[in-house]
Amino acid sequence: MSDAAYVVVGGGLAGAKAVEAIREAGGHGRLVLVCGETELPYERPPLSKEYLKGDKPASEFRALDADWYAKHDVELMSGVSATKLNTGDRSLQLADGSTLTYGQLLLATGAEPTPLPVAGADEAPLHYLRTLGDASALRDQLSPGGRRVVIVGAGWIGLEVAAAARGYDNQVTVIEAADTPLSRALGSEVGEFFARVHREEGVDLRTGHGVASIERQGATTIVVDQSGARHEADVVVVGAGIRPSVELARDSGLTVNTGIVVDASLRTSDPHVWAAGDVAEAYHPYLGRHLHVEHWSFALNSGAAAGRSMAGDEVSFDRIPYFFTDQYDVGMEFCGTTDSFDQVVYRGDPAGREFIAFWLSAGSVVAGMNVNVWDVTDAIQALIRSSATVDVQRLTDPETPLLDLL
Ligand code: FAD
Repeated sequence: MSDAAYVVVGGGLAGAKAVEAIREAGGHGRLVLVCGETELPYERPPLSKEYLKGDKPASEFRALDADWYAKHDVELMSGVSATKLNTGDRSLQLADGSTLTYGQLLLATGAEPTPLPVAGADEAPLHYLRTLGDASALRDQLSPGGRRVVIVGAGWIGLEVAAAARGYDNQVTVIEAADTPLSRALGSEVGEFFARVHREEGVDLRTGHGVASIERQGATTIVVDQSGARHEADVVVVGAGIRPSVELARDSGLTVNTGIVVDASLRTSDPHVWAAGDVAEAYHPYLGRHLHVEHWSFALNSGAAAGRSMAGDEVSFDRIPYFFTDQYDVGMEFCGTTDSFDQVVYRGDPAGREFIAFWLSAGSVVAGMNVNVWDVTDAIQALIRSSATVDVQRLTDPETPLLDLL
């Protein structure tokens, strides 16, 4: 049994930003970062973009510089998983047999890919994409080019992998159960923009039928969809969503919904335990409800906010949800939520891949997506926060500065 003032479980972006924030906010004492992976904490977005395409080495997307931990007296336990949390005596058991006790503990355990729940999936050599190792293995398969690649799921990961695979000149088929890709995040009208982009780039995008089963024939994997169509593949990639790694929290009796339920200061139902990043479901003071967000910006900012909270700062985390994607020549940023909207309007031309889409609810902007238009995030977020009723004609006029609408 050894004592620590602070223990952070999970060496992803949220965990790394939390330890940085604890030190910046003046948190003293022993600080241990328990990392299930053996790599230094790194950012995941490049895994399906620059790294997969061979444009960026892993050393360029670390969450913090390699020497930062030692300089700030942070103990890194790499390749060690936490196995049991006991909130009663504030102890954490580790897979190496040791136990840590803590003053404050952060759960930043992230998420894992959801396995494909169909017959034959367990026996087939399917690729999932979450870790650096996953991305390296997939890059080895895609980079020779000329291969038949079938991607299951037209979510963000599936579509980014499709773009990278086309970049290596592979033959790419994407199978999506919904009628339109990304309809849950963007609605079907804007989701259709991404469908069109991928078809224009040569992807065979099949929508409306999910995967029924996976078969093997020698070195070929056959993905059978629910219409009965059989898709032969040299490489199969599954991007079927993620499931938050909530086991430590659930087994210790903390309140868990989809993610670990936390308040606006990122504190769980136990006063000494906090959660941030993909594993958390945080109360959003501005939106007035809990949100489970699985994006880079939330990991970055909620990790830092949790660290400040743990060090004793007053924190109320109320950032507007934000994410980004890069596919082919399409660079996109999105802010807000699309749970409830009644109108979508455009500034610019989607066909030309340069525009802003706005989602409106009763005349107010609730979300915005800028595609190949830059430096508008602050203005879009200001519009969302203002809840102002906007003049649609001026909103869609590229000559009207967005901030003039406030
Ligand atoms: P994670 O990054 O999952 O880190 C959690 C860490 O905890 C892992 O290292 C895990 O091994 C470890 N862990 C789990 N359980 C234990 C345990 N019991 N003991 C010790 N360690 C444990 N978001 C965007 O906004 N835009 C993008 O373009 C984008 N692209 C992405 C591309 C890919 C390929 C992926 C996978 C994600 C992408 N995301 C993107 C999402 C973004 O990367 C995640 O939201 C972010 O990584 C979440 O960070 P996290 O620290 O909460 O969790």
